[in-house]
Amino acid sequence: MVKDPVCGKRMNRGRAHAVVEYQHVAYFLCCPLCQAQFESAPQVYAKPGLGKKTKESHRLAYRR
Ligand SMILES: [Zn+2]
Repeated sequence: MVKDPVCGKRMNRGRAHAVVEYQHVAYFLCCPLCQAQFESAPQVYAKPGLGKKTKESHRLAYRR
């Protein structure tokens, strides 16, 4: 399970709407709104404990 850093919703990693990488950590967003919110202010929402280090999750498709 992963946690959406914007709304706090927990979800299965595979069900995330988007995976956004920020400072070498991948964050899982549940919907387009959360994704837009995160991308507009990643420094506010990004907390390494909520994401996955990108090294450990090579199967993910990243978008920047
Ligand atoms: Zn969300």
